Amino acid sequence: MSGELPLARCVETFEGTEQTPPAPSCGVAAAPNSLVQSSEGSLVGFGIESCGLPHAILIECPDEDKADGLARKLAAAQLCSGPEKVRPCGQCVSCEKVEKGIHPDLQSYLGEGKSLAISVDKVRQIRAQAYILPGESERKVLLLRGVQTMLAPAQNALLKILEEPPASAVFILTTTNRFSLLETVRSRVRVISLESEDAHEAPEHIECAQEIIELLSRGEEARVLACFAKYEKDKLGVIQMLTALRGCLTRYMIAGGYKGGGAPLSPHRLWDFAAVTEDALADAESNVGGLLLGCSICARMFEASEMP
Ligand SMILES: [Zn+2]
Repeated sequence: MSGELPLARCVETFEGTEQTPPAPSCGVAAAPNSLVQSSEGSLVGFGIESCGLPHAILIECPDEDKADGLARKLAAAQLCSGPEKVRPCGQCVSCEKVEKGIHPDLQSYLGEGKSLAISVDKVRQIRAQAYILPGESERKVLLLRGVQTMLAPAQNALLKILEEPPASAVFILTTTNRFSLLETVRSRVRVISLESEDAHEAPEHIECAQEIIELLSRGEEARVLACFAKYEKDKLGVIQMLTALRGCLTRYMIAGGYKGGGAPLSPHRLWDFAAVTEDALADAESNVGGLLLGCSICARMFEASEMP
């Protein structure tokens, strides 16, 4: 599943030009509880350029500005004409146009009306737009902001596009809550979850999550398993720890990678780990015990580590 992407957030107004959202807070990879990015702002390995084009990404974050900031960054990475490894470069004409909200291949949609929901009609417009070939870049990015307000009929209309997207189209959706989307829609997108600073991430869980990431970089499978064994009879705890793990992985991913005492973990690898963590969270919520969960996660994470 690492090759697929979800990106989603929609709101209802079709804007030919976008307003510039506040940039995400920046820092370096060491700040585990804030949205960070590398000094170059690169999103190399974000599952975008390396493992096939992700068709759809859903950014989930209670802070809409933060979600918008990441969405814009991902969009810029898709449209950037700079060297592949540093996209978005922030310096090319495409990046400049994205920054100014005037790139013709980036279409942003917000909800309108009282419900602030993207309607079925709007989805039809989005669909038509998706089939128009990009004018300046190789791809066309369709950014749907605030999709948590979309009603089921509109979501179903969107699902049809996500199931068979035009080759050049990339959908990026933002939401405050992924569960506001139909399961069928969620299954078509790769979720990037940016928790709010204080959500779910108790210090002991962050500490455990950091330890697991470090152990993954060192290839110490048995010790990763020991971390999970602590949660054998603690369903809530393991869910909180996995949530913290997902958050840490995402932040390092945005930061451009993880460098600890072992082998550096590239954003691509972190993306794979985050995908495994996401699945484990679903298992944990289905009452799979901590140790069994740990075994399953270890097997899949180390399997992911061995992939080229
Ligand atoms: Zn660029």
